[in-house]
Amino acid sequence: MTAHSGSETSAALFKRASAATPGGVNSPVRAFHSVGGTPRFMVRGEGPHLFDADGNRYVDLVASWGPMILGHAHPAVVDAVQRAASAGLSFGTPTEGEIELAEELIARVEPVEQVRLVNSGTEATMSAIRLARGFTGRRKVVKFAGCYHGHVDALLAQAGSGVATLGLPTTPGVTGAQAEDTLVLPYNDLDAVRAAFASHGADIACVITEAAPGNMGAIAPEPGFNAGLRSLCHENGALLVMDEVMTGFRVSSAGWFGVEGVAGDLYTFGKVMSGGLPAAAFGGRADVMAKLAPAGPVYQAGTLSGNPVAVAAGLATLRAADAEVYRALDRNARKLGQLFTDALTAEGVAHRVQYAGNLVSVFFTEDPVRDYEGAKAAQTWRFPPFFHALLERGVYAPPSAFEAWFVSAALDDDAFNVITEALPHAAAAAAAAAREEDKA
Ligand code: PLP
Repeated sequence: MTAHSGSETSAALFKRASAATPGGVNSPVRAFHSVGGTPRFMVRGEGPHLFDADGNRYVDLVASWGPMILGHAHPAVVDAVQRAASAGLSFGTPTEGEIELAEELIARVEPVEQVRLVNSGTEATMSAIRLARGFTGRRKVVKFAGCYHGHVDALLAQAGSGVATLGLPTTPGVTGAQAEDTLVLPYNDLDAVRAAFASHGADIACVITEAAPGNMGAIAPEPGFNAGLRSLCHENGALLVMDEVMTGFRVSSAGWFGVEGVAGDLYTFGKVMSGGLPAAAFGGRADVMAKLAPAGPVYQAGTLSGNPVAVAAGLATLRAADAEVYRALDRNARKLGQLFTDALTAEGVAHRVQYAGNLVSVFFTEDPVRDYEGAKAAQTWRFPPFFHALLERGVYAPPSAFEAWFVSAALDDDAFNVITEALPHAAAAAAAAAREEDKA
């Protein structure tokens, strides 16, 4: 029995969108390719819910891929945005709000002494890498397989096998030259990082890592991993770039830094700090940031950077995110994880619920998942039926087995009841799933 009234309107919109836009979407994972079916076109969000064009209501466990920690259309954020918008949308001049947002980020994350506002997480990581290269005068960048840092050319390189594989472009359009200075290493493997520094130490400008990865599912850094990265970087004159676009101001008021306390030299932020509007930031040590134009020679700019409406949304979100909001996020993530375990255990489905702070994900494997290879080795073919059983029953989950699930503080008892009722059906669908090659 499903409470849902079909997806005909979404299907018609998707057809129209596919004529106007490649694949019908403006960011690939929205197209439901890895789960199949029709992407839902949303028309409204309120608190823990999204409403689609066919009039269906969903409990939202994606939260716009992270930003909406307070839930949708939070009154304080909407009010701040409306007031900012009525004062003018963009001036191309400095404004006081930009200082306030910068000060708010600096006050929360101790190693961040200065920040520069940009428009997306991609722009933040791209600029941080350029700055690290400009500061050190070195070329190479170390990243980890399975960590996503936006669609920066040099950071789209993925791992081959081996310890210190030289990056190869894994998407047409990224040239060998753009990727050749990227070393891709297995996550949570300090020996691989040691080996990379032993072979290329004098050329490595920085190591960039998700402070706690959420882009291959939730995989927390093992104890000592981030601290080891910091030591190896500093012993070798390289910078440590902590990408907190996903974790920043979500997993604690100071992001993953607030959870673990390991200081990076540079940080990237996005998502929560812009309250759902397009804004992001990078920042860090004052001596490094001093190299950025116009204070220094490393160029970086943006027509809409520090946009007053986006800044107002970010400030209102951060100011509303008090200790109770962070307690609710943690509580809701653990509750969701326990519900996964209860439902999947009842159906005898091998699984593992993992957390990185309050990022949560479920892997269809019994083995601990500590890197991208482990995430890929899980029975990901169980995910599409699991996903669709939830969707049909009003639960909007991330449409990919490799994504973290994002709770909001707005999830209430009613929302959890919907999840609790849907999960046994999803678990049964996962149990009944068959691998493509076994179907014949
Ligand atoms: N870094 C991380 C850790 C991310 O999760 C993302 C996006 O999901 C980005 C960078 C890129 O941010 P954006 O999508 O705003 O460009």
